[in-house]
Amino acid sequence: MERNPVPEEGGLSGEEVKGPVGRLAPSPTGALHLGNARTFLAAWLSVRSRGGACLLRIEDLDGPRVKREAVAETLEDLSWLGLDWDGEPMLQSPRIPRYETARMHLEAKGWIYPCVCTRSEIAAAQSAPQGPKDHGMRYPGTCRGRFADAAQARAETGKDPAWRFRVPEGTVVPFRDRFHGEIEVPVDAEVGDFVVAKRDGQPAYQLAVVVDDADFGIDEVCRGDDLLSSTGRQLLLYEALGARPPDFLHLPLVVGPDGRRLAKRHGDTRLSWFRRRGVPAAEVCGFLAWTLGLRPTREPTTPDRLLADFRPEAIPRESYVLEGDPFGKG
Ligand code: GLU
Repeated sequence: MERNPVPEEGGLSGEEVKGPVGRLAPSPTGALHLGNARTFLAAWLSVRSRGGACLLRIEDLDGPRVKREAVAETLEDLSWLGLDWDGEPMLQSPRIPRYETARMHLEAKGWIYPCVCTRSEIAAAQSAPQGPKDHGMRYPGTCRGRFADAAQARAETGKDPAWRFRVPEGTVVPFRDRFHGEIEVPVDAEVGDFVVAKRDGQPAYQLAVVVDDADFGIDEVCRGDDLLSSTGRQLLLYEALGARPPDFLHLPLVVGPDGRRLAKRHGDTRLSWFRRRGVPAAEVCGFLAWTLGLRPTREPTTPDRLLADFRPEAIPRESYVLEGDPFGKG
């Protein structure tokens, strides 16, 4: 299989990898909860069960939401659960120059343009009172074709511009997902021209994730299906950057009884909380394996012991509804 070139600062260069290369990509914005852990377990099983490699990337670009202490805690939580990774954990922050190179490539090819719109200006320009559910607001294209380059945008407005990807009118991106099957993402209708670099010069999630997955030769991206819509945008970036996209496996999330994704209001479901209470990792793993349809009961187990049985088809189609503390008494 054709692989993207692996950069020097990490990854698996020099090593022979026979199976697919996957990755765990936690954001250190809070400790790992049962929902993240379930997706990471599946991502790990999916590549390891095929003799593949698993990289670990800490997505530490999310500005003020990133908590430095959460990086170490995330690594501890993953190891405690029995997940491992190949090579050193990678951080995104030292790679900012690499994302800037990719952005400049997109600029040189005419794929992106400078934009000085503020969030409230975009909100005011919405034709519907709210943008489509879950996708935020659709960008109406105000700055498309407005400035020749960033220097002109700065000179005319006094503002540092963000950069937006030019989504051709009517763009719908089809792809095959290993869990959801054939998917079509109406990128133009949902979000329109999307941000690849922010006004402060930081890369947007969409650009960083594509550059990383391409540079590190990732063959499979397994993550929550809240990111299905993002995958449409990411596939446009793969194409514009001339990189080979990975396979995708998007899994339903764990939700609370109110149907919303796990959050603080659903009680403490952090792995560190169960760990501190003395719940054995094997019990947590057994519970997660059961919610993934890999085991008929919650009997304690380890990730290694699940390798032979991993099948994406076994995973329930619906979100798993977490009712209360699964390791509480009674
Ligand atoms: N860091 C993202 C998250 O924790 C995952 C991004 C991805 O897998 O592409 O939600």
